[in-house]
Amino acid sequence: MGDTVVQAPLSTAVGLSVDLSTTPASTLASTPGSTPEQCLTSPASLNQWLQKLTEGIIAGDRITREQALALTKLEGQDNILLLCQAADKVRQACCGNTVDLCSIVNVKSGGCSENCGFCAQSAHHPGVDSPIYGLKSKEEIMAQAKAAEAAGAKRFCLVSQGRGPKYSSPKSKEFEQILETVREIIAETSIKPCCALGEVTSEQAQALKEAGVTRYNHNLETSERFFPEIVTTHSWRDRVETIQNLKAVGIQACTGGIMGMGESWEDRVDLALALGELKVESVPLNLLNPRSGTPLGESGKLDPYEALKAIAIFRMILPKQILRYAGGREAVMGELQAKGLKSGINAMLIGHYLTTLGQPPEQDHAMLDSLGLTGGEAPIPGEYNS
Ligand code: SF4
Repeated sequence: MGDTVVQAPLSTAVGLSVDLSTTPASTLASTPGSTPEQCLTSPASLNQWLQKLTEGIIAGDRITREQALALTKLEGQDNILLLCQAADKVRQACCGNTVDLCSIVNVKSGGCSENCGFCAQSAHHPGVDSPIYGLKSKEEIMAQAKAAEAAGAKRFCLVSQGRGPKYSSPKSKEFEQILETVREIIAETSIKPCCALGEVTSEQAQALKEAGVTRYNHNLETSERFFPEIVTTHSWRDRVETIQNLKAVGIQACTGGIMGMGESWEDRVDLALALGELKVESVPLNLLNPRSGTPLGESGKLDPYEALKAIAIFRMILPKQILRYAGGREAVMGELQAKGLKSGINAMLIGHYLTTLGQPPEQDHAMLDSLGLTGGEAPIPGEYNS
């Protein structure tokens, strides 16, 4: 099965420079009704359109930007649930029934130089009630890694505030300490260590690789167009550069974004398309849980059906990527949490988030059981049915 079909010149949409020279024509061009007006004329025609789209995606086609934007026009719970069903079919066919489980630890918190508008750790938002501490000791991190392993997580991510090691001295003591901790986690547990330390140079990416890091979290947060509304101390391009440095040495990218910051549906679609172009392996989807004292503190929470629609559209655009429930799952989805796992999600963070609490892992395992899903390590794109 191939997955190289892209009709629209995506590099125009998101400004990335990618090689589309091998792109064949899409079979989806013949899909009935490629505009919302056409597909929304009746539930039957919507169903037919979704079915055709789903079959094409499972067969290896990629949907176009126009088709993705048509999906964003679906309104009303019934239509959104039809879309969720279609996305669930894609998830099942392209990823299977294993839900990837990981945990995170905030190894260094607060006082960050960057001004990300959603973040409780930025020094630019001093009114936020959030912990501030320096780098945790190796022993503290090890204890949390073992607890995450016992709770069923297969990966454990060391997350630090800050713009990143790229802006510290080449042989920074903190970076070395993190590498040492990574090596110890590998030696003493079966959990796989990941890192989210901010921007890295090629040399630092290589050092992470040599220490045993196989996946690194560095989110794009939103579309390139909307990014300056949220962050001005660094750029979307800076973030892309780090992802490329990591992928160049063979580290998988865990790269996603946040929904509910005031972005448009076009921004969401363009983020998903950019993640497809970058071929990131794992896509964490955060749902903004507004923190008082941040610039986005007064934003309302996303409607859970809007979140389901976003999840489903991400799955339709990124059929084989690991699509991960991240921060805000409990706070935003409420009773519809489980529905997300039947709308395209095939991974989730368990345990606590960086600055907010998550539900107990036992509750997550019970939720998976009730859905007939298994917690474990999901295949990376291309491993399942390839
Ligand atoms: S998201 Fe990261 S870089 Fe941005 S302010 Fe928070 S800790 Fe700093």
